[in-house]
Amino acid sequence: MTPLSQLKIRLAEIVDLHHASAIIGWDQQTYMPTGGGAARAEQSATLQKMTHERFTSEETGRLLDAAAFETAGLDPDSDETRLVTVTRRDYEKARKVPSELVAEIARATGQAIEVWTQARAQSDWAPFSPYLARIVDLQRQLADALGYADRPYDALLDQYEPEMKTAEVKAVFDAIKPDVIALVKAISTKAPPDGDAVLHREYDEQKQWNFGVDVIKRYGFDFDRGRQDRSVHPFTTSFSINDVRLTTRVDRNFLSPALFGTLHECGHGLYEQGFSQSLERTTLADGASLGMHESQSRLWENLVGRSKPFWKFFFPKLQAVFPDQLADQTLDSFYRAANTVSPSFIRVEADEVTYGLHIMLRFEMENELIEGQLKAADVPEAWNAKMQEFLGITPPTAAQGALQDVHWSSGLIGYFPTYQLGNLISLQLWDKINAAIPNLADQIEHGEFGALLQWLRVNLHQHGRKFTSPELLQRITGGGLNPAPYLKYLNTKFGEIYGL
Ligand code: ZN
Repeated sequence: MTPLSQLKIRLAEIVDLHHASAIIGWDQQTYMPTGGGAARAEQSATLQKMTHERFTSEETGRLLDAAAFETAGLDPDSDETRLVTVTRRDYEKARKVPSELVAEIARATGQAIEVWTQARAQSDWAPFSPYLARIVDLQRQLADALGYADRPYDALLDQYEPEMKTAEVKAVFDAIKPDVIALVKAISTKAPPDGDAVLHREYDEQKQWNFGVDVIKRYGFDFDRGRQDRSVHPFTTSFSINDVRLTTRVDRNFLSPALFGTLHECGHGLYEQGFSQSLERTTLADGASLGMHESQSRLWENLVGRSKPFWKFFFPKLQAVFPDQLADQTLDSFYRAANTVSPSFIRVEADEVTYGLHIMLRFEMENELIEGQLKAADVPEAWNAKMQEFLGITPPTAAQGALQDVHWSSGLIGYFPTYQLGNLISLQLWDKINAAIPNLADQIEHGEFGALLQWLRVNLHQHGRKFTSPELLQRITGGGLNPAPYLKYLNTKFGEIYGL
């Protein structure tokens, strides 16, 4: 057997272990009784330890070396060559972090999440502050262990967005910020009296669920290779290219979580179902980066699901399901309600225009924390100052401010920017897609999504993580990150809705 074949077998077993972890993680958040928590934590830790040990072993390194030699003459873009180069990158990253540091981070975040949960419930920053200081210190150690050329944040960002640099993200965010702040200000003088009140009426939960499923079947989500279940926090996970799990939540008094949440997770799911079957049981069967993954969820949730053509097709259907709740609505009034812009405190509830500002705020603060310019104790004050600068509002409580997200207590520093990168990338792709499919709006108006999904499959999905996000952007758009399509989209769409 050649070294490449041996490597493939070894990696397939590692991928199997990884998917076994995903299955028990999915079960934990969907069907596991609360009593199962302690045992599940042990099971999860055991599987992850086994996966990590097997992957970082000398034997994996030896097979990678030999396989690199074996594939040296092949097409550099072939599955085989990419499997070796991408896995080599993962392997070196995983080996750079001392196991004591991994264990210390796990311990510190385990405690911090508990303290954060309490602190948020009581809306009191003080008890959480020393835990954040500890996490920042450990993340700084992690950045040093991983190594970086320019800024320590590069190393942390690279875990979620391989090969993307802080300087590039900063340049793009800085370019966007003044325009979006100006747009929010202009909109705030024009706010419609109704806002999104219609979305907060009473809607039968099962009917909401069925409507969402009907939409994502039309999007092309394959229920023979996936399913949808309920969870408290919606997420998407996969156990195989042919077994992709979506989760969603349903609120009887708010239409958006189930409707737009389902479309969002479906976008992630379509990406996972779209990897080439040749990548099954390899380390390449995953998204190129979190930002690229998020570009897919945002595309199907916002660019399609909050568009006028989409609602031309689906509003009469929704009205038929909820005739009493929507009797006083027109296509136009409902479309405006679904696109209400209003500065708010909570990121996950933010609209398309203000959402990016929530992310840019966290990106700036994370860099200041990691580089030591901002102390954990001063975070609430800094947070409020930035909220005032970006959105013109000040959170009345820490729970509605710096304590709202779980990420920092989980040690996820460098993760937030990927949400906004997803928005930016989705619009760069959208420009290309509309050039390739000139009557796309017309197709969407007729509930047809086949050509759109096919374009994404061919240009993006099939590759999995054979290419990095910057490489894919280069292949598809001929350039790097570009904020122009995003700004043009926001200004055009919301300028029209708000008559600016
Ligand atoms: Zn997402």
